[in-house]
Amino acid sequence: MILPSSFEPLWEAPAGSPTGGLWFVFHRGNILIGGTREDPRIPEAGTADALPVPVSDLRFVGLLGGTACWAARTTEKEAPAGFAFEGLRSLFNRLPDEFLAVGGRAIQVLEFDRTQRYCGACATPTVIHEGGRSRKCPNCGETGYARVAPAMMVLIKRDGPKGRELLMARSGRFVNGMYSALAGFIEPSESIEDCIHREVFEEVGVKVSGLRYYGSQGWPFPHSLMIAYVADYAGGDIVCQEDEIEDARWFALDDLPVLPNRLSIARRLVNAVIGEVDPNHPALKA
Ligand SMILES: [Zn+2]
Repeated sequence: MILPSSFEPLWEAPAGSPTGGLWFVFHRGNILIGGTREDPRIPEAGTADALPVPVSDLRFVGLLGGTACWAARTTEKEAPAGFAFEGLRSLFNRLPDEFLAVGGRAIQVLEFDRTQRYCGACATPTVIHEGGRSRKCPNCGETGYARVAPAMMVLIKRDGPKGRELLMARSGRFVNGMYSALAGFIEPSESIEDCIHREVFEEVGVKVSGLRYYGSQGWPFPHSLMIAYVADYAGGDIVCQEDEIEDARWFALDDLPVLPNRLSIARRLVNAVIGEVDPNHPALKA
């Protein structure tokens, strides 16, 4: 999910700005949505008190086209009439992309507060610091920031008698039939490139070369930064890592599996590598 250029991420409401705006209200991981199923809307209200559910843990998340965007939590499990609680992912392709992206920032800011209420070093309650960007321990000074976990993603390609082929894998968590590029979290002191070589060999047992940076994208499930590369196959037979990889195989471009959602960088990466050899491939229009 990509924050739109019309969004200005901020930690505090600018001085003198109105209290009202768009409210990204969460019960656990689910967001409060108005409108209809086909046309869901982020609730708008002049103040928190005007929302249809009681809220707490208010946080400012930024300005979307000049409109204030707020994050808040509610303990209400049941949405009032005309509203619903839905997972952000279930709103893909229904809620406009810009609201999904701001919602992704909102839930991460709320999770920052929820999970760093106490100092990890001395267990003293932390306080909001630096205008909201960090939380600081008043006892020992330990300072924490919202968690962002860098992860690599790599799409391995080869060009042979069957034309271009892509090495993609699926985990048991994926929806039926979906395969994607390989991905894994970067470990301490590791470079992204080190991580790619290590994870690719661990997950599917092959060697790669010619790493080429493609792009990056924040992914709020729960707090990843996906850093995507293309790589050339350099040898080895596919051996799937037990427990991690349910299946991995080479896919020719005329026999592709179900691909990730267009909002993910995984899909943009796959489309880019297909587009290099077949700019009119139907996958690019999905
Ligand atoms: Zn402390």
